[in-house]
Amino acid sequence: MTIQALKGFKDILPEEVGLWQHIEASARDILHRFGFAEIRVPILEKTELFARSIGEATDIVEKEMYSFADRNGDSVTMRPEGTASVLRAFIEHGLQTRLPVQRLYTIGPMFRHERPQKGRLRQFHQLSVEVLGLDHPRLDAELIAMAWLILEELGLTTSLQINSLGCPACRPAYKEALVNFLAARQDLICEDCRRRTVSNPLRVLDCKSSHCQEQYVDAPAILDHLCLGCADHFAQTRASLELLAVPYAVNPFMVRGLDYYTRTTFELLTDTLGAQSAVGAGGRYDGLVAQLGGAKGMPGIGFAMGLERLVLLLGQQNADACPETATDLFVAALGEEATVKAFPLVHLLRRKGLQVAMDLEGKSLKSQMKQADRAKARFALILGEEELAKGEAVLRDMTSKEQQALPLAGEPEALCAVLVTAIASTAQ
Ligand code: ATP
Ligand code: MG
Repeated sequence: MTIQALKGFKDILPEEVGLWQHIEASARDILHRFGFAEIRVPILEKTELFARSIGEATDIVEKEMYSFADRNGDSVTMRPEGTASVLRAFIEHGLQTRLPVQRLYTIGPMFRHERPQKGRLRQFHQLSVEVLGLDHPRLDAELIAMAWLILEELGLTTSLQINSLGCPACRPAYKEALVNFLAARQDLICEDCRRRTVSNPLRVLDCKSSHCQEQYVDAPAILDHLCLGCADHFAQTRASLELLAVPYAVNPFMVRGLDYYTRTTFELLTDTLGAQSAVGAGGRYDGLVAQLGGAKGMPGIGFAMGLERLVLLLGQQNADACPETATDLFVAALGEEATVKAFPLVHLLRRKGLQVAMDLEGKSLKSQMKQADRAKARFALILGEEELAKGEAVLRDMTSKEQQALPLAGEPEALCAVLVTAIASTAQ
């Protein structure tokens, strides 16, 4: 019996990898333009890290984490998101002492035990971006504009929603108003929401049930409860977004699925991936560094993009985004003697930077020409017995079918140089 991958765990096959690389390269390029540095953090962390940051009464911590006791009996968890690990590393290595404002990103797999669907996996990949050490609203706008630019340069159309979740000064009063509202509707909402009315009332607004959502249209809005500082911060974030001409809508009921957010939150949404509508999301988390044992009053903000959803969107909206890479040259050597001659030549050409393929077994001309077509080779270099006898090789332009004879005599370096020039002069 063959063994298959786990449910919700997916292979990314060679024909898809081009899209992934295109997305990653394009995002990295933009991140570097904005002064971000990459950080790579472990996949496995102490369970406590996520319980303390994401929050006990969230979907992720309650029912989605891959947690287990390792061989020493310690509870460990495969990271469900990137922020907690990056902040742990930031605190552990005292990164703020090197640079007052740290701009960090990481790309990699995350793990959540969810019901697998299109665009929702158990192992999925995120680009996770964090800025630590600054709470100015202009930064919120800059970061949102950067997320927007990443999608824009990929040629993707999405919509942007923003909100403010207030701070520990103003959120309690809002919570109270929300709990009163929910208390009057307990028999109309789902069991999860009833439970969370007590344990984590804001989270209720994030419920995926449309029935519950219908009840919440008249719920009190956090934006009506912001303290002066939070209201001003939100107004300045909006004004800065407008300066950068980033189009947004305010959604006062967006609460996000993690507890650590304060003030600005945002989501980048599409309506073409069903329930998997968020391609990216994030927000400010000014208390999180302190909550994890780091410096008090160290502000932070970040977002994460789901790469699977970006790949799906790119397939839908901009399938030609990623040009196929063609082989520069297929070296077709016929027979053992020619193959022995071609073998080091191919290695030399690859060392010079060309993308070169050859048939290591020296099969028939027909078979090798088929291979050259399949590899989408721009040129073929034919080294047959006849050519060998004449001391030359034939270079064929596979598009125009034009051919020219090249001398084989002398050092392979000489032929290599001729080939590099011939191929570079017709570079596409
Ligand atoms: P959703 O509401 O779709 O469950 P989320 O709020 O749980 O998303 P975040 O924790 O904010 O998602 O993660 C940021 C991004 O990561 C999401 O916007 C989405 O693009 C992606 N993402 C989250 N969970 C998954 C998953 N299980 N499979 C694929 N992508 C995911
Ligand atoms: Mg989720």
